[in-house]
Order: sequence, then structure tokens, then C-alpha cells
Amino acid sequence: MSSTNVQCCWGHTPCNVSLDDISAAGINKHLKTYHFANWHPRDRATCQWQTDDGTCASEMYCGNLGKHVAAVHLLVMQRECPYCGEVFARSDALSRHIHSYCSAAGNAAPAG
Ligand SMILES: [Zn+2]
Ligand SMILES: [Zn+2]
Ligand SMILES: [Zn+2]
Repeated sequence: MSSTNVQCCWGHTPCNVSLDDISAAGINKHLKTYHFANWHPRDRATCQWQTDDGTCASEMYCGNLGKHVAAVHLLVMQRECPYCGEVFARSDALSRHIHSYCSAAGNAAPAG
């Protein structure tokens, strides 16, 4: 299992929890634990994920939120280190990792 530095962006006051498990099931579990007092898979819910354009606001069943967040909000954000495979939420975090921290990259700056 590779760890991630993906942070939850749910709601106007994000919980700032790092999402260790960014599978649909892992995100559902996080939402249940942190953001829903009463979670029922067949209840309608609105996605509160904060994007560059504001709140996502897509409406769906609670049970589909994890899959939606993983597919729509996290996969597009993810940047995977080409050297060690560690996943970062932002490209600037990844380049900092490659330049300064990644032992697999030998800390060599890529051309360009
Ligand atoms: Zn959260
Ligand atoms: Zn959404
Ligand atoms: Zn790396």
C-alpha cells in the first residue's frame, strides 16, 4: 500500500484530514465518520467537495459519494511520482518531493 498526501476538501470548513484510503469505500468511510451524522446509502446527498469553481453540488445517493469523489475529484488531482509511485494531491507537492525528498529519484532535478 502506498500512502497518499491527499487532503479532504469536503465542505466550506475542510476537516484537513489526510485521506489514507482514496478508494470509494475508504472515502465513504471517511465521509460517514467526519461529515455525516446520519448516513444512509439510499439517502440523497449533495456533494460538498470544494473545487476551483466552488462547491461541486452534484446530487446523488450517499452510497455513491465515495465513488464520485474518487473518480471526479481525486483522480484528476492526483500526481504520482514516476520514481517511487507515491501519490500527491498537487503537482507542486510532487515536484517538491522529487527535488528534495524522493530517494528513488536520487533528488536529481528532471530536465525542463
Ligand atoms: Zn473530510
Ligand atoms: Zn462532487
Ligand atoms: Zn518519489
